[in-house]
Amino acid sequence: MSLVVKKFGGTSVGSVERIKNVAKRVKEAVDKGEKVVVVSSAMSGETDRLLSLAYEISNRPDPREVDQVVSTGEQVAIGLLSIALQEIGVPAVSFTGWQVPIETDSVHTKARITHIKKERILEEIEKGKVVIVAGFQGINPKGDITTLGRGGSDTTAVALAAALNANVCEIYTDVPGVFTADPRIVEDARKIPVISYEEMMEMASLGSKVMQIRSVEFAAKYGVKIHVRSSFSYEDGTW
Ligand code: ADP
Ligand code: ASP
Ligand code: MG
Repeated sequence: MSLVVKKFGGTSVGSVERIKNVAKRVKEAVDKGEKVVVVSSAMSGETDRLLSLAYEISNRPDPREVDQVVSTGEQVAIGLLSIALQEIGVPAVSFTGWQVPIETDSVHTKARITHIKKERILEEIEKGKVVIVAGFQGINPKGDITTLGRGGSDTTAVALAAALNANVCEIYTDVPGVFTADPRIVEDARKIPVISYEEMMEMASLGSKVMQIRSVEFAAKYGVKIHVRSSFSYEDGTW
């Protein structure tokens, strides 16, 4: 049976309605017989909001405490998504980065994943549950919460896909794929059907935020297959 990691970005889980929509999408995959691990970002705007609270208090907040604050956005999103799945009859369980645990180095606010203990996740998949993991966060050797840098949920998803040997890592976002340029800015940007890791890394290094650069480096290193898709086709049929 195939195992899929599905990552949903901030806009995809930006409201209760959208969270319910994501749950429906996940249910479709489960009904097809797929084993699903979901990675979620915080609801859109939430990470910025949390960061600005910290910077309202201090110009130079302690990075450890910044991580303590900003990591909470994802915790809310995964809990809500788990409730939404359970509500439509899909057994689900959510884990923060430290509950998995996703181990990282100690560089607060831009930590790197060093190892993922996958036993707990595999145990829950075996029980037939959809496992929902908080993106963007981990735990350092001291036991402190770390975050992976802006856009870091992509890296969580790719790292999990590599660790679990998933068939594919699906990145659901607010555009229907990778384009020749940012489709929100360049009107005649074209969708690229297939892109190499190298080209994607170049695009990410030039500032395209469709995927965090570290996630592409990770995918190249472990040969993780990635599909970038819109999470909204289901909702309005326009893409
Ligand atoms: P998410 O919250 O789902 O992680 P992001 O905002 O981080 O989404 O990334 C998606 C955004 O990346 C799109 O809304 C788009 O404006 C932007 N983007 C920039 N360059 C590209 C590109 N070449 N192809 C697709 N999207 C791009
Ligand atoms: N929530 C984090 C951010 O806004 C991580 C992510 O969305 O990938 O940067
Ligand atoms: Mg992103």
